[in-house]
Amino acid sequence: MADLKTDVRYIRGIGEQRAKALQKLEIRTLRDLISYFPRAYEDRSVLREIRDLQDGETACVSAMVAAAPTLSHIRKGLDLVKLRAVDDRGVLDITYFNQAYLKDSLLPGETYLFYGKAEGSGRKWKMVNPVAEKEGAGLLCGRIVPIYSLTAGVTQNLLIKSITQGLTVCRDLLPDPLPDEVRQAHNLCHISYAYDHVHFPQSADTLAIARRRLVFEELFLLTLGLGRLRSRRTQAAARPCRADLGDFYAALPFTLTEAQQRAVGEVLEDMAKPRPMNRLVQGDVGSGKTMVAAAALLCAARSGLQAALMAPTSILAEQHYKGLGPLLESLGVRCALLTGATAAKTRRSILEQVRDGSIQVVIGTHALISADVVYHRLGLVVTDEQHRFGVDQRSALSEKGRVGEEQPHLLVMSATPIPRTLALIIYGDLDVSVIDQLPPGRQHISTSAVDGSYHPRIYDFLRREIGAGRQAYIICPMVEQEDGGMGDERKAVTEYAAYLQKEIFPELKVAFVHGKMKPKEKEAVMTAFAAGESRILVSTTVVEVGVDVPNASVIVIENAERFGLSQLHQLRGRVGRGSHKSYCILVSDNQNEETRERLKVMTRTGDGFRIAEEDLRLRGSGDFFGRRQHGLPAMKIADLSCDMSLLREAQEAARQLLAEDPELALPQHRVTRQRMEELFDEAAGALN
Ligand code: ADP
Ligand code: MG
Repeated sequence: MADLKTDVRYIRGIGEQRAKALQKLEIRTLRDLISYFPRAYEDRSVLREIRDLQDGETACVSAMVAAAPTLSHIRKGLDLVKLRAVDDRGVLDITYFNQAYLKDSLLPGETYLFYGKAEGSGRKWKMVNPVAEKEGAGLLCGRIVPIYSLTAGVTQNLLIKSITQGLTVCRDLLPDPLPDEVRQAHNLCHISYAYDHVHFPQSADTLAIARRRLVFEELFLLTLGLGRLRSRRTQAAARPCRADLGDFYAALPFTLTEAQQRAVGEVLEDMAKPRPMNRLVQGDVGSGKTMVAAAALLCAARSGLQAALMAPTSILAEQHYKGLGPLLESLGVRCALLTGATAAKTRRSILEQVRDGSIQVVIGTHALISADVVYHRLGLVVTDEQHRFGVDQRSALSEKGRVGEEQPHLLVMSATPIPRTLALIIYGDLDVSVIDQLPPGRQHISTSAVDGSYHPRIYDFLRREIGAGRQAYIICPMVEQEDGGMGDERKAVTEYAAYLQKEIFPELKVAFVHGKMKPKEKEAVMTAFAAGESRILVSTTVVEVGVDVPNASVIVIENAERFGLSQLHQLRGRVGRGSHKSYCILVSDNQNEETRERLKVMTRTGDGFRIAEEDLRLRGSGDFFGRRQHGLPAMKIADLSCDMSLLREAQEAARQLLAEDPELALPQHRVTRQRMEELFDEAAGALN
């Protein structure tokens, strides 16, 4: 007997060959098959009489083939099948291009449903290449038909047939992960009804009922899983940290913003507990996350523990060290910098002092997790720019501080603002602090969106800015290839840089950097740019991560339509970091209305959270989940940009269930628990 893990090839009517095709869509098991949800629907349920057709409309008619279709071979590669179909009051002439087989499969005297675009008037109508199906078959016409995303070798027809078959096979063996009481309390339909109608709805209403249930289920299981991660974590122990930070605040050349104070408060409160902190601090570029980290580092050090701050690149680590080192030292805390570039001798001495505890705060890169680094009493781990680290790297550093059941506190800083509700989901088991305020007096970055015809003016503008002593970034266009993949970024960057150097700015030094360069080379280029040795830096998005060159005042982003809003915002944050008036120029020849709207959003606001919300509204949540590094299950049907209220309902239901049965150990929750574990295991597997 089949179960949901059954390979689709063993399902009657699918077989070896179709299974191979389906695999291209990642459909392997029966569950994959029935969970391959339509991306849209076409209403072919209403049957029209031929005479009532409207010119240009797409409609479904029921008509009898009046005479045997004729096949004519016009020339090589062009065959026409023509036929006439009639109903009581009208005539429909139908033409098929290059579908010769239809000549023999559409039989005179039989009635078919034809679905296509109608042209004509009065009694005489035409359709070209309509979908045709024998009346009564009820698969492709005469109902609401699902539209699936396809790939080469997989047609709508194949999917509709396979899924119909799949649903027939498993209808009675679908275990329901929603406990009965939850299903009833929230007015949700049965699982088999949901699967039937999400693929083949009888009406818009049954579709809504089906979809609501599936979205709820997805969000419910997600929340349950997160809740369990959280509770597992709160079972671990940590050293509580408490310290007086009065002199720290006094030593700062500014007062913390309210948002910073709030975040610091939340962090210190967490650290004072005998449970490990797991907190994400989210704040826009320049919102001052580093000071929140500084307070935490100091608090740990003063509580007799060591603290480590890990950044994704040496440049960032050095920047942090330059900024925080002197501040912390002045407050009596010993700091050191440890990166891949640290000389062997210095490194040995640092490792020794880290081991004996005389160095209290270490700032660095992945070097902090090398095998030979042994901490004395690591009590706090801070990672910056979280989206560049995998979950495993974060935990590798935490592991170094583990003593028995005790774990270090963890603070994660991310400069990718995302709407709060989404953050709670994406960062899953982390608590979230939001810094939604910039320090006073921040420069607004003047942003414009223009087309390619502006290049000469842009180059003139760059020349003027550079003449005034500034520097500029140019984010290089990437050529999209025919297969939809991106071209060779190395080639794109080097060629564009060479062109600019030779043809446009022969008098200036143009440097370039791209992701295919070795880390050492990259760093060298970035360091030279930071030191002002090169004036223009052509780059792919590798400058996205918090590089700080206060003297850079312009960023030009070519093919801006290629980037998501949040990414554009990150890129824009590379300028406006000094006292100079700064500019962001978005170049795009794309006329697509949605694209234009997206770019306009950038010119109107500098608020990263607003931008993230717009991004969510315009593109749906798929993208946030697309760049997955978080090890959470993918969302197959829920769209958090429009399913927010359902999310809250599902979260509430999950909380209630966990309150009743924290381990989901009751027999009536067995299926729920199994499904949740499956989802999270698959996702965790995908991370490795
Ligand atoms: P990010 O959140 O991007 O990491 P940083 O912590 O690097 O931001 O802070 C950006 C700049 O703002 C730094 O030069 C920092 O010294 C400064 N800064 C931070 N907090 C304040 C504040 N409350 N008032 C004024 N300047 C601040
Ligand atoms: Mg930062």
